[in-house]
Amino acid sequence: MADTVNLAAGRPYLAIPGPSVLPDQVLQAMHRPSPNIYAGELVEMTEGLIPDLQRVARTRHHVAIYIANGHGIWEAALANVIAPGDRVLVPGTGHFGLGWAQVARGLGAEAELLEHGKHSHWDLAQVAQSLKADSAHRIKAVLAVHVDTSSSVRNDIPALRALMDELKHPALLMADCVASLGCEQFEMDTWGVDVMVTASQKGLMVPAGLGFVFFNEKADAIRSAMPRVSCYWDWQPRARPQQYYQYFNGTAPSHHLYGLRAALDLIQAEGLENVWARHQRLAQAIWAACEVWGQDGGPLRLNVSDPALRSHAVTSLQIGAPDGSRLRDWLEHNLGLTLGIGLGMAPANSAARHGYFRLGHMGHVNGQMVMGLLGGIETGLQALKIPHGSGAVGAAASVLATGQ
Ligand SMILES: *Cc1c(COP(=O)(O)O)cnc(C)c1O
Repeated sequence: MADTVNLAAGRPYLAIPGPSVLPDQVLQAMHRPSPNIYAGELVEMTEGLIPDLQRVARTRHHVAIYIANGHGIWEAALANVIAPGDRVLVPGTGHFGLGWAQVARGLGAEAELLEHGKHSHWDLAQVAQSLKADSAHRIKAVLAVHVDTSSSVRNDIPALRALMDELKHPALLMADCVASLGCEQFEMDTWGVDVMVTASQKGLMVPAGLGFVFFNEKADAIRSAMPRVSCYWDWQPRARPQQYYQYFNGTAPSHHLYGLRAALDLIQAEGLENVWARHQRLAQAIWAACEVWGQDGGPLRLNVSDPALRSHAVTSLQIGAPDGSRLRDWLEHNLGLTLGIGLGMAPANSAARHGYFRLGHMGHVNGQMVMGLLGGIETGLQALKIPHGSGAVGAAASVLATGQ
């Protein structure tokens, strides 16, 4: 009898690495009739978003907001500074470097993609080689994914900046913080990032649909010298609008903006540094559980073995095919818990892809949710008789309770 009871009713938990869990405050803020887009509350509210976005990005420079997902924002940023025939250098540690490189190629750029594997951060010696070989300075930008959401590797942006400075290479440093902003430390100005892109649906806790390009004066000067920039992607009127419609080059995404206002209020009330500390502690609890599950002959492995290189927002795991998919299916159908699929770790049509999965722990996630996530996985491993070490949930509880 007991093993046939379905336990999935109740609030479902989407623990995938984006879109992330929507706070009730965000949902409530979006549940309203359409506002006037010419004057009044919406106009004032939009102006107030700008300084709060700058605070989250740790920049005093510009921000342009787009109606776009992450792929759109990759293109928005490149369209302002990369002309056909320009070169970009893309150090890759997973699926997302490749994605940004493809967008650059679609705009007519030559993209040099460096593959650094999927288990560790960039190999800066290789990056240095490519930059040194470019004595004519044809490389106009280095496209740097901060956290690669497929491998869950976090890359060292300040080290890349230091390398570019040491080699006196004038390329723009462009960072993709779609997965990391609002989850883990990022300091646009202090770290010397020229352009940073992010989107609404991960650490910013708003549905997909808003994208952000932050850019400094160096990048803006390059924009000004471009032979042409498409009207829609042009960041200048968006960052310095004379009239309200220029913020969005058309109708404002009003409901997303109300949602964003509520999300930024949550971040501000908690304090950005507390937000980072919460993500770090929750991630450490998840890693502790995963390490224990992998003991005693259990097949589960963290994709990134060095904790210092792991993202605090997403965790990529390997368990062997077909158990990754079996576990995800079982948890979704029996407990109402949805885990992320593996991405870019095995060919898309291969059986091996069923051996990977990911945990999203970005944005509106707290200790009881993570304990539910881990308790759920423990339950699935038992139900499916997948070998695993015992004591994982206790190990996570200890991390939350004592920090170790
Ligand atoms: C999610 C993500 C993207 C792409 O976002 P989409 O909205 O799916 O287009 C790009 N870069 C990173 C690092 C991401 O995590």
